[in-house]
Amino acid sequence: MVARVSVMAARVSRTGWAIAFTAARRSPLISCRRCSSVSADTVYDVVVSGGGLVGAAMACALGHDIHFRDKKILLLEAGPKRVLEKLSETYSNRVSSISPGSATLLSSFGAWDHICNMRYRAFRRMQVWDACSEALIMFDKDNLDDMGYIVENDVIMHALTKQLEAVSDRVTVLYRSKAVGYTWPGPFSMADSSPWVHITLGDGSTLQTKLLIGADGYNSGVRQAAGIQNVSWNYDQSAVVATLHLSEATENNVAWQRFLPSGPIALLPLSDTLSSLVWSTSHDHAAELVSMDEEEFVDAINSAFWSDANHVDFIDSAGTMLQYVVTLLKPTKVSARQLPPSVAKVDAKSRVLFPLGLGHAAEYVRPRVALIGDAAHRVHPLAGQGVNMGFGDISSLVHHLSTAAFNGKDLGSMSHLASYETDRQRHNTALLAATDLLKRLYSTRAPPLVLLRTWGLQATNAMSPLKEQIMAFASK
Ligand SMILES: Cc1cc2nc3c(=O)[nH]c(=O)nc-3n(C[C@H](O)[C@H](O)[C@H](O)COP(=O)(O)OP(=O)(O)OC[C@H]3O[C@@H](n4cnc5c(N)ncnc54)[C@H](O)[C@@H]3O)c2cc1C
Repeated sequence: MVARVSVMAARVSRTGWAIAFTAARRSPLISCRRCSSVSADTVYDVVVSGGGLVGAAMACALGHDIHFRDKKILLLEAGPKRVLEKLSETYSNRVSSISPGSATLLSSFGAWDHICNMRYRAFRRMQVWDACSEALIMFDKDNLDDMGYIVENDVIMHALTKQLEAVSDRVTVLYRSKAVGYTWPGPFSMADSSPWVHITLGDGSTLQTKLLIGADGYNSGVRQAAGIQNVSWNYDQSAVVATLHLSEATENNVAWQRFLPSGPIALLPLSDTLSSLVWSTSHDHAAELVSMDEEEFVDAINSAFWSDANHVDFIDSAGTMLQYVVTLLKPTKVSARQLPPSVAKVDAKSRVLFPLGLGHAAEYVRPRVALIGDAAHRVHPLAGQGVNMGFGDISSLVHHLSTAAFNGKDLGSMSHLASYETDRQRHNTALLAATDLLKRLYSTRAPPLVLLRTWGLQATNAMSPLKEQIMAFASK
């Protein structure tokens, strides 16, 4: 008998696997929403559960991998298909800062070309500064290479959908198909001869796969059903996003972020006259920002970027002294402070808030299961790294799976899944820890800590090799 695992009612067994017995109805045929029908007896080589940015990109990357040309891949997405029939003049309020490494991944299977043909904005500098002092750090490249790209999430999703269509002979996509149960082979299925993972969909039909990839977001049902522990907490902040019109047209190729005591506010370039806002602040303040009238909202943004009301005189003096010493010791060029653009208007109805939190799965893999994207790690948006970490997971996992496929190995085997976990946990835990530390360090007005971070930021700004290392790490 196969143990059926209910995502909703999962509990952790002695062995760490989540089990709960539910009566799942078997259906011999599953109707595919996009192509032909899929038999319940089909054993997929890989099923990706969750077709958000990360899951869809994973299915694309596998579908375009030469060593996967004979494999059967299935992408399950609870929501509808998302294509943009026509690019609207109005920008979407959901955008992502995409690193050069992520752009390389998207290029590897043709999605970046679609993005370039639609729209994106490159940025060449990033200025980060403290609202409690004069301290700032400027990231830029001597050769003015692109540091990253601001792309609407809908545009990325459209590009991925197009590239999934290009490999529809290998990748089947089931939209509006929610996985509600997962069953693993093992001690609970001794009498069942099937060695594969069984998946039950919302309509009661079932599928089998040799490898299940959980890309189902930070409340991942795959992670819960597998009994993988997740360290998580909610922050005392929500992020308000909006599309903003600038007072005047500029080159607009700088990403701005100022750390206010209530949380960071960021302005990301979209065009010569438009920028996207991500303002992390207390839940109450976020709710207030979303409901205030447009003029008041614009004033609040300009004041958040320009006001010196949080400055402390003695910290400014201490900062100036350190800056003076740094200039004496290292009379090389330090990038000068730039002034952010002022905001004139907000797009109607573009203001939305998102509660923020941190999460990290203790394990990314189990036999026949791998977690990627927010299912494995959830991070504060202050570093703009969430989806980039997910794309980094894809690069690593596809590399290991492609090698396994080339060598004729079992895709669900721990031998290569464990290598993926080692690669990515090393990178992701460092980023999660650094982001969480920054969030905490900048959430205080306590003078010793403000002084410490002021000196830290100034010193880092003066150390080009350190800044280059930070940039190299963040651009992966
Ligand atoms: C305000 C804000 C700003 C951000 N800015 C940036 C940024 O600038 N740069 C950056 O890198 N990151 C950024 N992020 C983070 C980024 O948005 C996320 O990391 C990323 O969207 C996660 O993608 P995902 O595909 O892993 O998960 P999700 O987007 O959560 O997708 C999960 C998908 O799985 C589907 N699903 C769930 N359960 C099931 C099921 N049982 N069966 C089938 N399908 C299922 C869902 O429908 C969904 O489509 C930001 C986040 C926020 C909140």
